[in-house]
Amino acid sequence: MSLKVLSVASEAYPFVKTGGLADVTGALPEALAKHGVKVTTLLPGYPSLRARAGALSEAHSFTDLMGVPARLLMGELEGRSVALLDAPSLFDRQGGPYSDAKGKDWADNALRFAALGKAAAELARGAVPNLAFDLVHAHDWQAAMALAYLKYSDDGARAPPSVMTVHNIAFQGRFGADIFPKLGLPARAFALDGVEYYGGVGFLKAGLQAADAITTVSPTYAREITRAEFGMGLEGLIAARSGVVSGIVNGIAWDDWSPSQDLHLAKTYDAQKLAGRDANRAALESLFGLEPAPGPLFIVISRLTWQKGMDVLVACLDALVAMGGRLALLGSGDAALEDGFKSAAVRHAGRIGVRIGYDEALSHLMQGGGDAIVIPSRFEPCGLTQLYGLRYGCVPLVARTGGLADTIIDANTAALAAGVATGFQFDGMSDERLIHALERVSVAFGDRKAWRGLQRQGMKADFSWDRSAKAYADLYQNLIRGRA
Ligand code: ADP
Repeated sequence: MSLKVLSVASEAYPFVKTGGLADVTGALPEALAKHGVKVTTLLPGYPSLRARAGALSEAHSFTDLMGVPARLLMGELEGRSVALLDAPSLFDRQGGPYSDAKGKDWADNALRFAALGKAAAELARGAVPNLAFDLVHAHDWQAAMALAYLKYSDDGARAPPSVMTVHNIAFQGRFGADIFPKLGLPARAFALDGVEYYGGVGFLKAGLQAADAITTVSPTYAREITRAEFGMGLEGLIAARSGVVSGIVNGIAWDDWSPSQDLHLAKTYDAQKLAGRDANRAALESLFGLEPAPGPLFIVISRLTWQKGMDVLVACLDALVAMGGRLALLGSGDAALEDGFKSAAVRHAGRIGVRIGYDEALSHLMQGGGDAIVIPSRFEPCGLTQLYGLRYGCVPLVARTGGLADTIIDANTAALAAGVATGFQFDGMSDERLIHALERVSVAFGDRKAWRGLQRQGMKADFSWDRSAKAYADLYQNLIRGRA
């Protein structure tokens, strides 16, 4: 039997993307189709999407959606089933999906994404004749109100089952209590089991409260967010609902990130021809101004922020060089961190090279030529760069948190003996711990045979979308069966 799912999101690749959320909402529909699930994705009518709306047709109109007229346009866009919330006064503006060109949040974000949620709820409740959905899947705070509107609709009991996915609990959609009267919800919704959140309104909180199932993007992150260090205020709710919380690790775009056919590489290779990586390492050395050396070439591809532990890494660079390592870093972010890495590159010319900026092509070459990718995150809901590292034989060195803990098998004695190790993990964020981990990598790198074993083991790991899609499809089936 084929299932019909309404996925609600504020971004989806290739239509609109600011981060990993778009990769998930963009990739899942195709992967789910193979498991008998047909996904329609509801997105806001940003200019980039309105420009393509000619291929869609009007399926429903609202005379008053959060005080403005709006339409639902539906159809196929680039092979995907899409519903577009066409509400020009809310979404047709220059700037980003959430903020203006200067990076300031749009002042009416509460209404914009309440409108998205309300439209989703209406669609799920049958606003379009002959179109029914078996389940609603909301992603992040921008879509979360869909589940609150379903819960508080007059016939809430007949609403389809729902899933709320948290991609990063740091983003919660918190607003003042003054917004509540504008949401069009019954007064009883402003309560502990509704949308009320620390005296104001919490969109993600409302979705988490209303959802039949909650998922996050790795099992370890699902457990971590029950604790105050990671839950950012929502730990109590997550802990109370832990019976319906699970973690499903994201996949990666398998064909775009494939060392045997990657056009960004100086030389393509596979697990049997790892010597091909040497040409990529040489290309990196020349691009980053690094001198050839026998020790490992570490790479970093990252936002330069506190979350990513970059302040700790910057303090370990003298030690990294002293142990014979080199570093090629690509990233941008906090000005102080950018300066810290740049000055280390001056101090250690020929050993540390830094590129400030975003460069997709270079990021591929780095995975193809670097020996080990360093990811010392303080928290990491899933993480992608360690998955690319695995696929490219660029051995990941990661903090034991969130998706990093779930996807990398530490090269401890037992794992090495069993031949299952794929990388290195370290616990506790400190200079000392990170330096110790860098040393472990340097020592392991000295044993060529063992190192090749680590690379090959990592390259065997399957983090394709197919695996994640199966987990989502199973969850949907269980929820639907539970209702029957
Ligand atoms: P987050 O979404 O928290 O930044 P992830 O590891 O989940 O971290 O995803 C980051 C994505 O962005 C990866 O695909 C990574 O390769 C890419 N990326 C990050 N910084 C850069 C950069 N400076 N240049 C190119 N790609 C980058």
